[in-house]
Amino acid sequence: MAGSSLRVVHLASLLALGFVLGSVDASQGDVDPHYRTCVKECQSTAIIGSNIISHCQSPENDSTPAGSSWYTQEPLYTQWKQLNCMTDCRYYCMMQREEERQSGGLSPVKYHGKWPFIRVSVFQEPLSTALSALNLLMHFTGWLSFFLLVNYRLPIRPQTKRTYYEYTGLWHIYAILSMNAWFWSSIFHTRDIDLTEKLDYSSAVALLGYSLILSLLRTFNVKDEATRVMFAAPILAFVTTHILYLNFYDLDYGWNMKVCIAMGAVQLLAWAIWAGVTHHPSRFKLWVVVFGGALAMLLEVYDFPPYKGYADAHSLWHASTIPLTYLWWSFIKDDAEFRTSTVVKKAKFVGGSQPEEEESAVEEINI
Ligand SMILES: [Zn+2]
Repeated sequence: MAGSSLRVVHLASLLALGFVLGSVDASQGDVDPHYRTCVKECQSTAIIGSNIISHCQSPENDSTPAGSSWYTQEPLYTQWKQLNCMTDCRYYCMMQREEERQSGGLSPVKYHGKWPFIRVSVFQEPLSTALSALNLLMHFTGWLSFFLLVNYRLPIRPQTKRTYYEYTGLWHIYAILSMNAWFWSSIFHTRDIDLTEKLDYSSAVALLGYSLILSLLRTFNVKDEATRVMFAAPILAFVTTHILYLNFYDLDYGWNMKVCIAMGAVQLLAWAIWAGVTHHPSRFKLWVVVFGGALAMLLEVYDFPPYKGYADAHSLWHASTIPLTYLWWSFIKDDAEFRTSTVVKKAKFVGGSQPEEEESAVEEINI
């Protein structure tokens, strides 16, 4: 009991800290008055140092009346121009301030929640964009080989034509949510605007929440539909509320990070304990993914500024998940093979009838 009340106190303090952190919106770089003046001047004159910001040049820039409906506003391209004017000015002012700070012996600071990254073409954070795209590709190839394995290489239940592996559908959904999350991640790192940020955060939370459900279903060996719903419902309710909170109430970075770290930690723990107590033939792959994943999570916690303007902690985290994703899908495929052979063997052992009929009668080893 003492343990659970301690946990409640801990959760309450986490919540309180989340709200306190959430009220601090601005980063160190953008509260600097030099930076603010620079952005203001750049937006009105379209000139910063030797650069001319073409997006800021048009005279009708500030003609849009505030608070009017979308159909009475300027055409979309004018709004797009204004947005580009603002982001270009912020970028050049940030670079200017960082040069000044560097010559004064000061270390880099964040601007609007982000480190000062060097742009490449249209990409705001080229390394994170490329690595997100590679993660997407890794999930796609992993999913494809899983799909081919369960549908063509492993035996299929003769009557229902479904796979023997009980988690096939769940992994398909996992693959789709993963690819969706990495897609929005690469879009967000290309261009950080309100919409892309919310899509990225929401997709990442949805994936983390779903993979938490999946980890519990697999490690507790839940095959019955009703029990699966019982496991999934509270987590789904929480994740949905959290996504709605982020999108329509407050995109609170501190609180969101705590939620994500908590959901990540619980599933890593579930897999780690399971790998420790079962005799799964591929438990070593799981160990590597769990420990690699935990180490990678540290990169998200101990943030550091970009090396040479490109490689920050976050981009290294995206790099680390590439080999882990490969190993992860390799474990999933091993699990499908292992479960299939277990179910088929058990059914044969019980006596020549159809395996899917015998399956329920046989109390299987909970692996
Ligand atoms: Zn990212």
